[in-house]
Amino acid sequence: MLDCAIIGGGPAGLSAGLYASRGGLKEVVLFERGLPGGQITQSSEIENYPGFYEHGKTGMDFMDTWQEQCFAFGMVHRMEEVKGVRKDGDHFIIDIAGKESVEARTVIVATGSTPRRAGVKGEDELFGKGVSTCATCDGFFYKDKEVAVLGGGDTALEEAHYLSNICSKVYVIHRRDTFRAAPSTVDRVKRTANIELVTDTTIEEIVGDAMGVIGINIKNKSGEVSYLEVPGVFVFVGHNVNNAVLKDESGEAICELNENGQVIVDLNMRTSLDGLFVAGDLRIDAAKQVVCAAGDGATAALQVISYIQEQA
Ligand code: FAD
Ligand code: NAP
Repeated sequence: MLDCAIIGGGPAGLSAGLYASRGGLKEVVLFERGLPGGQITQSSEIENYPGFYEHGKTGMDFMDTWQEQCFAFGMVHRMEEVKGVRKDGDHFIIDIAGKESVEARTVIVATGSTPRRAGVKGEDELFGKGVSTCATCDGFFYKDKEVAVLGGGDTALEEAHYLSNICSKVYVIHRRDTFRAAPSTVDRVKRTANIELVTDTTIEEIVGDAMGVIGINIKNKSGEVSYLEVPGVFVFVGHNVNNAVLKDESGEAICELNENGQVIVDLNMRTSLDGLFVAGDLRIDAAKQVVCAAGDGATAALQVISYIQEQA
């Protein structure tokens, strides 16, 4: 039986893995369906992790050594997708896609969040054919071309700035005239010559053919509709939490969630189910920052160590 199963290998899961393995737990396994690193590996630049300030470093560069540090202290990574977590008496059962279930004394769930779709006509049909949620992955396809970015948060504006280095022009389409993004980011975008902020405007339809996106129909506050010819549309309209592993076959959650599906935890990352901890973007009131997710992971692992000592 594992001392601790960690589900999700973003900043929260990896930080939990480091603290749990370095804190003396014997069997610490991180289940991550892909390569560890989490959503920050999609970021073109990270500049707000304290002590790490190197202009132009990507999220991928930044996360590179996190898993190595965990492996050095004995944490094991299994590249597997967890289907569900169940409690059976005093321990947990981790159901893994296509593999035998695994037993664990404690579980830290750090499955983070996933980019949301905007629900615009044409978005789903053209996803991967000109519609993207990752500028780092797909921006280069639009070198010297015009693209549109949808959204007014930190992700939309930061990624618009990244795209402005590659593309000839970036239209930022935002439904309001004020931005959710940090003021410094808004200023930087406003100072960028080839970014045009198209505010109080929504995308009515993403238009395309068998080859992919051709353009977008946009509508402003006064109801005027116009067309922008762009081969790429980047959608950055927030995230949904990945809480599926915490639901049973009937869809019931095994611990308390709030109305947005975020897991209710206390300051020690304890959920309403004994022995189950949640860290990072998945929890209530998450600041959705790498440094905060990493802090949560460390807190959860320290609690797991105390919990196991108390049970012994
Ligand atoms: P995640 O990073 O979402 O990691 C969760 C992991 O769980 C994923 O790797 C996923 O594959 C895995 N997983 C999910 N379900 C399962 C399953 N069933 N089985 C196995 N594995 C599973 N924050 C900053 O502080 N600074 C920034 O500059 C910044 N820029 C950002 C730019 C972009 C484009 C994005 C998208 C986010 C940015 N953020 C930034 C936010 C930051 O990335 C997140 O807050 C942080 O990654 C959350 O960490 P997490 O560990 O909670 O979850
Ligand atoms: P977000 O802050 O929730 O912003 C989403 C944006 O999309 C908002 O401007 C919202 O408009 C708009 N929007 C939502 N649904 C829409 C729809 N259906 N159609 C059109 N527009 C829609 O999401 P985010 O930018 O991904 O950021 C998520 C979290 O990660 C935040 O807490 C953010 O601070 C953090 N993050 C931080 C950094 C950083 O620190 N450097 C970088 C990236 C992300 P309204 O404003 O009108 O609601």
